[in-house]
Amino acid sequence: VTALLKFTRTKQGQYEWIQLVGHPGTFKEGLHEGYVLKALSEKERRCCELLQNDLLKDFVPKYNGTVADEEGKHYIEMEDLLASFKEPCIMDCKIGVRTYLEEDLDTSERDPEPRADLYEKMIAIDSTAATEKENEEKKILKPRYMMWRESLSSTEELGFRIEAIKKSRGLMSKEFQRIKKRDDVQQHVIEFIANSIPRAIQYLNRLIELRSICLQSKFFQTHEIIGSSLLFIHDANRASVWMIDFGKTRLLPDNIHLTHTQPWIRGTHEDGYLIGLDNLILIFKEIIND
Ligand code: ATP
Ligand code: MG
Ligand code: MG
Repeated sequence: VTALLKFTRTKQGQYEWIQLVGHPGTFKEGLHEGYVLKALSEKERRCCELLQNDLLKDFVPKYNGTVADEEGKHYIEMEDLLASFKEPCIMDCKIGVRTYLEEDLDTSERDPEPRADLYEKMIAIDSTAATEKENEEKKILKPRYMMWRESLSSTEELGFRIEAIKKSRGLMSKEFQRIKKRDDVQQHVIEFIANSIPRAIQYLNRLIELRSICLQSKFFQTHEIIGSSLLFIHDANRASVWMIDFGKTRLLPDNIHLTHTQPWIRGTHEDGYLIGLDNLILIFKEIIND
């Protein structure tokens, strides 16, 4: 599960969180105004730090170091991207042709313990997906689940999937796990932007800029970016998009250089980041030109 959260102040000045999806307890109000805390992962912290001095700086939340709470739990403090929006609409798109690391596959294969929780998750989405043996055991292997999941959504083909959408004041929806077809994805994007062409143009321009910065970025050249999202945010006045979630982003070994555009073959570490970004750019272009 992923989380799509909304941190805003109510009229009484209380901090209001609307958690749309995900690990409850991962996020907390920041120590500083306009910042949030996310449970610390050392790998993500390292990325946040590097990104502050990279060309991609303006496309990621500002990073303000780590903090510990009363219970000794550690967090990274980062800019709350929603802070400057009024009643924002939010869309989380997970980028890449896969959302697990090669090392996750290796690990899950080395220690093949079938899991009941993954079995439950699978049949909740598709009651016919499990094999007879899996149905008997009511458990499945993690690599099997991971690969099955990517084929359900647009991840494999489009290099991104919509994880969740929250429309201003509207209900949030996370029923996107099975949206696979390009036309369906586009339809959800159109609904998300409420069919506004000016809004689509703002998003498109920002995505095009992001693409060109990616090609020059040292960080982008040296990392495998898995499970990271583009967070689309707009309100009545403004639309913009940022990169978030670097928990599964990894520094590449010296001998591996990614194109970010070639399909993934195990061992290549290709993440398909630019496949997803290019498809998003095309989708916005089509929306504008239609
Ligand atoms: P997962 O790995 O399951 O996707 P996670 O625990 O790593 O989840 P993130 O994906 O980083 O968490 O963030 C979850 C949600 O929290 C995002 O979809 C977004 O709605 C919100 N969020 C994350 N970072 C920010 C931020 N800097 N500003 C505003 N909202 C944020
Ligand atoms: Mg995420
Ligand atoms: Mg994450």
